[in-house]
Amino acid sequence: MKDGKVISLGRSPAPEGAVEAASCLALPDFEPGWVWLVGAGPGDPGLLTLHALNALRKADVVVYDALVDEAVLQFANPRATLEYSGKRGGKPSPKQRDISARLVELARAGKRVLRLKGGDPFVFGRGGEEALALVDAGIPFRLVPGVTAGIGGLGYAGIPVTHRDVNHAVTFVTGHMAGGAVPENLDWPSIAKGSPVIVLYMAISHLDAISKLLIENGRRADEPVALVRNATLKNQSVLETTLGSAADDVTRADFKAPAIIVIGDVVKLREGLDWLGALEGRILKRDPLSVRSRQDAV
Ligand code: SAH
Repeated sequence: MKDGKVISLGRSPAPEGAVEAASCLALPDFEPGWVWLVGAGPGDPGLLTLHALNALRKADVVVYDALVDEAVLQFANPRATLEYSGKRGGKPSPKQRDISARLVELARAGKRVLRLKGGDPFVFGRGGEEALALVDAGIPFRLVPGVTAGIGGLGYAGIPVTHRDVNHAVTFVTGHMAGGAVPENLDWPSIAKGSPVIVLYMAISHLDAISKLLIENGRRADEPVALVRNATLKNQSVLETTLGSAADDVTRADFKAPAIIVIGDVVKLREGLDWLGALEGRILKRDPLSVRSRQDAV
């Protein structure tokens, strides 16, 4: 409601000039000396938020991560300096401490600093650590959430992270601890038992160990699993497998990071909801969970 009027979202056609609506929004000023911690989403630039686009257009310096796609960086102000801060070509990655120190240094030099991270900065992205370092140093910051790979990336593969007939809970898990080890200190029995759908980030290299832990703790070896690589990008690819064969199939297919992994019956919905596949001519299956036939039988 605005000025007492109900605004219908279903109206058509769009009023003249509606496409310019974004420029009428009261987007915040990006002030010198500030750091904006911004999520770039999983890759497709169309998934940038308006705040992210605004930040890209106004920043003096963009400090970006390995997972930020070139297509997104093209929106940066041509006068902006682009600074890469991730792992590349097997070289050791800069220490988190050094990245935070660099953000502080740039902000103190009076720059508008855009810290651009893949997905959402606060989801397995160490954005919280960077924000705390800024607070410690007395640097003002703003957080712009992004579409996280574990939701949006799966959506691009036609997999809803929740579905009423499958799960009322979902658990997001990192497959990689800070030191690179399997996260054994996680409560795997509870995760296996309590969460019908599990979404794994950074888990390809430990998939064998993780699937074994889940099966040992009661998950079915034939439970559906999907891996979505380069989700939302033009080279997105999807591997459908089962918990028992996932690790072998990944090796056989030479399926590499970055990939998001989802375990659970929501994967079955892909047969009916692979909208990207449908654009390329794939026939979608109606009622992939066979819910209607089950209901009919009752
Ligand atoms: N902050 C990010 C996650 C960073 S952890 C987010 O919210 O999405 C890095 C992991 O995220 C990768 O190892 C992979 O598991 C996942 N990921 C991020 N972008 C991805 C993409 N485009 N395709 C597939 N997986 C992706």
